Amino acid sequence: MTDTMKRCSICQAEFDGASRPSVYAEAGEWLAGEVWHDAGELCPQCLENRAMLAMMYLHEHNT
Ligand SMILES: [Zn+2]
Repeated sequence: MTDTMKRCSICQAEFDGASRPSVYAEAGEWLAGEVWHDAGELCPQCLENRAMLAMMYLHEHNT
């Protein structure tokens, strides 16, 4: 374990706050900062899940 390990506020999983595993996680982190204001508190998996849900949701509202 390193000092970058954090615990996800959604699923309670521990994750490395310094990792950037995918573009969806990056998008999710951007949304977390800009929309939900909880950046750094979610694991990459939850960021990905929320980014994909947000993209579907936003897409519906753009049509
Ligand atoms: Zn999580």
